[in-house]
Amino acid sequence: MTSNKGSSATDATLRRRIEPWEFEVSFDPRELRKEAYLLYEITWGPKCNIWRHSSKNNNNHVEMNFIEKFTSERYFCQSTRCSITWFLSWSPCWECCKAIREFLSQHQNVTLLIYVSRLFQHMDPQNRQGLRDLVNSGVTIQIMTDPEYCYCWRNFVNYSPEQSAHWPRYPPVWMRLYALELLCITLWLPTCLKISRRHQKQLTFFTLTLQNCHYQRIPLHILLATGLI
Ligand SMILES: [Zn+2]
Repeated sequence: MTSNKGSSATDATLRRRIEPWEFEVSFDPRELRKEAYLLYEITWGPKCNIWRHSSKNNNNHVEMNFIEKFTSERYFCQSTRCSITWFLSWSPCWECCKAIREFLSQHQNVTLLIYVSRLFQHMDPQNRQGLRDLVNSGVTIQIMTDPEYCYCWRNFVNYSPEQSAHWPRYPPVWMRLYALELLCITLWLPTCLKISRRHQKQLTFFTLTLQNCHYQRIPLHILLATGLI
């Protein structure tokens, strides 16, 4: 990945950037905000043209909106390779996973890489299956880590010049927990991460419960990286 130098008055993408506070609260792995945010980048053609934009969910999920917008506004001939990168605050639900697979099957020249900051209702078996189906159809899904937060900040956020290095540094343990759970999903293992919320105090609790099968199937260094065992 390459990064732009930063936002400036001459930056053509400026009006499509989101505000720093929006990015910070929407992509915080510890916050379970209702709204979903999508920052996306489309790269195509021999000159690697890049188009970047952002969107929030409205009546539809952001993924559905993207697909609708892409198919209605953009046309690439089948020989033009096109790669799309999504930075999503929430992973896609099973219905969006299905729509994404249909979209990709109709656009064989398109590849999709998805980074997510949180897993959406990850204990729901349909959502787990949806993510597995996406991975099996060739989509790469990863949890956002520091380099992705930095990249998004520099390319999608309307920061002021003195804030160029001020992308949010979230504690890595949350990213590792989500990465571990994503691994459980793709390996067909039971959930090991439980997220619960105490409404009275608006507190969110992350609990890691590992079973024998987790210890047997997940490499030890990944388990140790969580810092919780
Ligand atoms: Zn959805």
